[in-house]
Amino acid sequence: MDNALQQILIRAELEGHAIGFDEAQQWSAVDGGALVNLGILRPADDAEYLTCDACDDPHDAEVIRDCGHDPRIYCPDVGLYRIGADRLRQWEVDFVRLAHLLSGALGLHGVVQEVTRGRIWLLGRRQVTNRTAEFFLAHGLSRTDSLDVLRTAARLQSSPAPIVFVPDRLPEHAEWRENGRLLLRLSEWAQLENGAFTLHLQAFEDLHRQVADDLEGPLQATPESERDALIKRFCRDHNNCTVTQICFWANVDRGDLSRWKNGSNLIPDGGERALRIERLLQRGYKTRTE
Ligand SMILES: [Zn+2]
Repeated sequence: MDNALQQILIRAELEGHAIGFDEAQQWSAVDGGALVNLGILRPADDAEYLTCDACDDPHDAEVIRDCGHDPRIYCPDVGLYRIGADRLRQWEVDFVRLAHLLSGALGLHGVVQEVTRGRIWLLGRRQVTNRTAEFFLAHGLSRTDSLDVLRTAARLQSSPAPIVFVPDRLPEHAEWRENGRLLLRLSEWAQLENGAFTLHLQAFEDLHRQVADDLEGPLQATPESERDALIKRFCRDHNNCTVTQICFWANVDRGDLSRWKNGSNLIPDGGERALRIERLLQRGYKTRTE
């Protein structure tokens, strides 16, 4: 069975998630206490529904508050009955606090910054193997607005080969993995150890180096005969983007893109402009972002 930290990270992916009192009772006192003491969980609004525990058939029941001093629920078998006010307590994951804990656990430099309201945070940066990597926290990436969230997060898009933590669910769309983004599930990598939130950088250093090398290593020039198709495929995979957008992202003018496509020696393979175009079209690396 998943431990308390894993359970709340899985739940945190749901919009408007809440963790109820009955559920929290299943955890060990050490883990439950740590989640609250660390501030990963904060109090949320009281529950409006509870699972009936008065009959043999556990069913959801609405909490009734205007019927005497104590809250009650209605059970078809037992009728109206009183419940302890404690059972109404709920908690939610505090992502800002989680962002600060991650930054601390990884020894990152820089200040935690919100990139996309309530969804993405820049955690800071540090040296990982032979390069400086930026770290982010993002959640809800399997929801239907996932690509909109990515496309409007300019600060994330312009970061080469960053490490992006998600609570539990990885995004399905390949665009999330472009530009060398390494996506890691906290439910897999983070732990509570003696009441402390821990995450060991060494565990995923190698993974990061492989992904960063793929992004920053040498590029193979696309054969001239395949360049037109590469542009078309890129547009199709990027929300039917326009050639104007490609030129903006690669920081080249339209004439340059056209000359590159036609194999003109004014845009030689391995030159700065050809590299910016190839990096964008092959690896999704945007030299400029909106
Ligand atoms: Zn019942």
